[in-house]
Amino acid sequence: MAIWDTVEDGDRRICAACGTAVRSYQFRLYPTESSMFERCVGLAWCSGCRIYSSAMVHISRTRVLADALSSLPEDESVRLRRSEAKLVDYLDRQDHRKP
Ligand SMILES: [Zn+2]
Repeated sequence: MAIWDTVEDGDRRICAACGTAVRSYQFRLYPTESSMFERCVGLAWCSGCRIYSSAMVHISRTRVLADALSSLPEDESVRLRRSEAKLVDYLDRQDHRKP
């Protein structure tokens, strides 16, 4: 993966290369009953440069995360979760569809 820099711009982050606002998405990997429940994956990407990064993030058990894949059939969402590149691609297309 190429090195990708983001810079702070007020209360958001922008891509250091092209200035596009950085998009992000967090999702859980483990079921509620797991002791690892709070270990989540955080994705961040620039739709201008088509580059993304992922990191393990800690998200409190009490915080409810929006599930961007909830409207998809089960097998489709499983397929997307398996590949970060596909997931970012999908989320990016979703964002563009919004008015
Ligand atoms: Zn960029």
